[in-house]
Amino acid sequence: MDYQRTWSGITIDSHVHMGPIDQEDALLRILDVTGIDRMGLVSIQNARQGTGLPQSLYMKARHPGRFYVFAGLSHAERLSGGEVKTPSLSEQARELARIGCDGIKMIEGKPTARQIMDVPVTDPYFADYWATVEELGLPIVWHVGDPEEFWDPERIPAWARDRNWGYGPDDVPLERLYSEVDEVLGRHPGLRIVFAHFYFLSADLPRAAKFLAAHPSVCLDLAPGVEMLYNMSRDREAASEFFIDHADRIVFGTDLSSDMEPAPALARAGIVHRWLETGDDFRVPPDADFLLGPPEDGIIHGMSLPEDTLARIYRDNFIKLAGRDPAPLDVDGAAVLCDRIAAAAEALSSSPAAETEAGRVAAELRRG
Ligand SMILES: [Zn+2]
Repeated sequence: MDYQRTWSGITIDSHVHMGPIDQEDALLRILDVTGIDRMGLVSIQNARQGTGLPQSLYMKARHPGRFYVFAGLSHAERLSGGEVKTPSLSEQARELARIGCDGIKMIEGKPTARQIMDVPVTDPYFADYWATVEELGLPIVWHVGDPEEFWDPERIPAWARDRNWGYGPDDVPLERLYSEVDEVLGRHPGLRIVFAHFYFLSADLPRAAKFLAAHPSVCLDLAPGVEMLYNMSRDREAASEFFIDHADRIVFGTDLSSDMEPAPALARAGIVHRWLETGDDFRVPPDADFLLGPPEDGIIHGMSLPEDTLARIYRDNFIKLAGRDPAPLDVDGAAVLCDRIAAAAEALSSSPAAETEAGRVAAELRRG
C-alpha cells in the first residue's frame, strides 16, 4: 500500500462473495490483509448446484460477529415447473429472518438472471414477497441492471463480453429494469434496499440524486464496477459534493470474493479506500483482478472525503440497516434449510445431496 489511509475506525464491507467452504481460511486471510472488520456475505442461491447461501451460513456459524448474511431466494419450484417443491417467496423471507439471516440478496434484475427466469419483479409471483419483506423491515442488497455499455457492442469491455455479459435486442433493456424498480418502490415505499454497484448511475449523478430523493429508504453501494470510479473521476468536485450531500445513503462495498489471493484482494479494497479517503490521482494497480481492467484504462481521482462522511459510508449506514452486530444463527434451522437446498439440487441435477455444498454445510452445522 503506497498511500496513507485516513480512516482508522471500524470498516464494514457490505458486498462480499463466499465460495466453497474450502475457502474459509482464504476469506479470513482477506479480512486480515484488507483490515476490514466485518463483511456482509451476499449469497444468491444456485438451486441446481446447491451452492451460494449454505456456505455463508457456515461462515456465520463458525465466526460469530464477523459475517452478516444476505440470503438469496430459491426459485427452484418455478424453474423446475413444479417438480421441486419450495416454500413461497414470502415464506422463504420469513424463514430466512427467523434463522438469523441479516437481509436478502437479490440478483433478479440483472439481465443474465432475467435470461434464466423471465419474470419481472412487478409480476404477481413476487407480490406477497415484497409485502412481507417490507413488513419485516429486512434490508435487501439488490443487483439491478449492469453498466450501460454492456448493451453496446462497440463499448463493452472485453472481459465482460467474454463472460457473456454483452446484451442484445433480445435482452431486457436497462430502462425497463429501472421502471420496474420504480413500480415496486411505488407500491412498497418502506422497502429498505441497497442497490449494488451504485445502481449503475455513476455516469449520471443528477439522476442518482433524483432517485435517492424520490425513495428515502434506499441506499447505493460502492462495489466496483470499476466504471463507477472512472465515471466519477471525470468531475472530482461534483462527485465529492454528491458524497457529502448523500453521506447517509452510500454504503461501502468491494465485491471481494473468497477465491481471491491476498494481493488482488488488497488491490480491490485499496482502490475504493484510496478513492474515498485521499486526494491522490492513481491507476488500478497491476496486481488487481481482471474485473478491474488494466491500469491503462484510466486515472482515478481521489475525493479526500471528510471523516464524518467516511464514518457513515464505512460503518454507520450499514449498522442502521443490518444492526450493530450480525444476528445470531439458529444452527438447527439453518441445517434444515441446507437439507432442503441439497435435496432440491439432487432432484435438479442428480448429484447426491450429501456431496453438494448445502449437504456438506448441513453436516458441518450438525457436528457443531
Ligand atoms: Zn457482487
